Amino acid sequence: MTGWRERAACKDTWFPEAWWLSKPGDKTESSFDDNQAARRVCRRCPVVSECAQDALVMRADGVIRAAVACRIDRRGEWLPASEAALRVAAGYDVEEVAA
Ligand code: SF4
Repeated sequence: MTGWRERAACKDTWFPEAWWLSKPGDKTESSFDDNQAARRVCRRCPVVSECAQDALVMRADGVIRAAVACRIDRRGEWLPASEAALRVAAGYDVEEVAA
């Protein structure tokens, strides 16, 4: 592992499943409370911008990245709220999000 991931606040986390998005009724390893704990880690992460940019490029889905719930729909399209929040976290101009 090199680059920005070396400085990630979640790098040596005790419970990586906390970054997997949970929904009511899911049988995932994580819970809503776990997801909230993951978001709190993201908010103090020194590489949140890099993480958000990577999530956009890699089309991260079903996970929390940069404190954002990343979701892509069945058509392969970003949920608008996910994409907008990632773009803001990545440091892109908010006006670009609306374009
Ligand atoms: S922003 Fe969150 S998911 Fe991204 S590297 Fe930091 S702690 Fe990990």
